[in-house]
This record gives sequence, structure tokens and C-alpha cells, in this order.
Amino acid sequence: MSTLHKSGFVSIIGKPNTGKSTLLNTLLGQKLSIITPKASTTRHRILGIDNGEDYQIVYSDTPGVIKPKYALHDKMMESVSHSLEDADVLVLVIAMDERFPEEEVLKIADKAHIPTLLVINKVDLATPESIGTRIQELSTKGNFAEIIAISALEKFNVDGLQQLILKHLPEDPPYFDKDQLSDRPERFFIAEIIREKIFTLLQQEIPYGTEVQVLEFKEEGGLIRITADIHVERKSQKGMLIGKQGSMIRKIGTLARKDIETFLENKVHLELHVRVSENWKDSDKHLRGFGY
Ligand code: GDP
Ligand code: MG
Repeated sequence: MSTLHKSGFVSIIGKPNTGKSTLLNTLLGQKLSIITPKASTTRHRILGIDNGEDYQIVYSDTPGVIKPKYALHDKMMESVSHSLEDADVLVLVIAMDERFPEEEVLKIADKAHIPTLLVINKVDLATPESIGTRIQELSTKGNFAEIIAISALEKFNVDGLQQLILKHLPEDPPYFDKDQLSDRPERFFIAEIIREKIFTLLQQEIPYGTEVQVLEFKEEGGLIRITADIHVERKSQKGMLIGKQGSMIRKIGTLARKDIETFLENKVHLELHVRVSENWKDSDKHLRGFGY
């Protein structure tokens, strides 16, 4: 018996800190993408696959739209464009506490030529009146297939958004195995979890100068042994990551290990090393090595 099956690619785009990664995780009912209060945490396009009986929605979480300042930013913005190339539906996220002007993201939506769902996130922070005003003001600024107000964090109206996405998806067979959650290997998510802790624990520019690389991942008698390098741009940053008598690196390690254990559903031994990779953010060689 054949039933109607919907599937397609949905690109989640917006300025930094609008709650794109939180939204992806809420839509999937699982923590896949890392979340921090700092802008520009997400550096790669991350696929998250929502599998239902009669649908498969392939979401792309993307880095926040910014003006590039160095080569890493160029790569991040390329990943935003790539995600739009195969998208069937664009989910454009604007937050009620938006700190950036929305013109640039609205321009992207204009050029996309696919159904655009304007999502106004973080409505838990606002009054009904101000949400109404915001919707009215934005509705004149683009050609939106739908406009919906949600709270990704409080899980308000996210089901409603999913229904709207399904409405605009084509009837197609699934692209991926129905038990697949992402296109990225476990190693990638482990590095992301470690990066999340660095972004949470360290201040100012330090997190932006770090990158994490998983070197070893092996199972040994019920335990998963993981070794990872934390790369910094300058020698002066190495000390900050290690902290007084190793206190900072121990904190990063402990928090990351707990989350990795939840993610892998297994006991983990985590070993972290800090390395100086001079100016890696502007080095094509380094960026390639890190998978950009
Ligand atoms: P991204 O940069 O767009 O991926 O944003 P994140 O998902 O990393 O979230 C950035 C910050 O906004 C985090 O501190 C989140 O907890 C917060 N956030 C995300 N969604 C909501 C929401 O619906 N309401 C509130 N109050 N905060 C949110
Ligand atoms: Mg993000």
C-alpha cells in the first residue's frame, strides 16, 4: 500500500543568536546542535533529520548571517549559501530581542525563490502587543508564505511550525535512511560539545580563536576513549584555556565528558590537549584540515 510521503530540505537561516540551533533541537526533540549565549557559535551547516511515518524533513542549521571579517567567516557564509541551493523551504528566523538589523537576511529570502516561512522567535520575552506590531512591520518587508510566532526555548508553537513546513514540502520519497539523524559522524558532534563548553566558560574573544579536533575515538572494554586537541591562535591564549594549575581545562573536560556520555549513551574517557596553531582562522591550510 502506498501512502503519500513528503520529504525535502529546509534551511534555517537568520542573524546570530536568533535561536536557530535551539529551534533545530526542539524540532528534532534531541540536542544535536550546540547552543551558547554568544553570537556565531555555529560554524558549519549541520543537517538534522526529522523522520516521521509519512515524512522526512532534512533541516540545515546554519551559522548566523554576518559580514565576513576573516577566512573562517567566508567559509561560514559559503555554508549558508550552499544550504540554500538545495532547500525546498526557507525558515527565516528573526528574534524578538534581535540586536541586528534584518535587511541582510531579508535580502537572502528575496533571492531564494522558495517558500519562505518567517519565524518570529523568543516571543516568551515579549508582550502580545509588541509581537503583533513586529509581525505587521515585517509582513510588508518580504514575500512570506507564512508568518508564525514561536518560542524555540519554551517549545511554544513549534508543532505549528512543523505543520506549516510539511504543508510546503514536496511529495517525495525519503533522501536518507529513516533511522539516520544527521549526515555528520559522531566525532563531529563530540568536537562541537567540547567547543560549546569553551564558549560557555571562556570570555570575550578567546572562544572565537579556538577550534577542536578529535584525534582518537576508540572503544575499549565498555569505555570509549577520546583524545582531542583544542587549537588556539596565539601562545597567550593557551594559558587562558589551561587555567591556574589546569583548572580551566579540567572544567571544560568534565562538562564535555558528561554531555558526550549522554550523546553516545556510553561511559567516556576524555583527554584534552591545547595546541597553538598560529593564525588558523585565516589559514586555508588549517581551515581545510579542520573540515571547512
Ligand atoms: P543561534 O545563534 O541562532 O543558533 O542561537 P542559539 O540557538 O545558539 O541561541 C542563542 C541564545 O538564545 C541562547 O542563549 C538560547 O538559549 C536563546 N534562545 C533561543 N531560543 C529562545 C527562545 O525562544 N526564547 C528565549 N528567551 N531565548 C531563546
Ligand atoms: Mg547556532
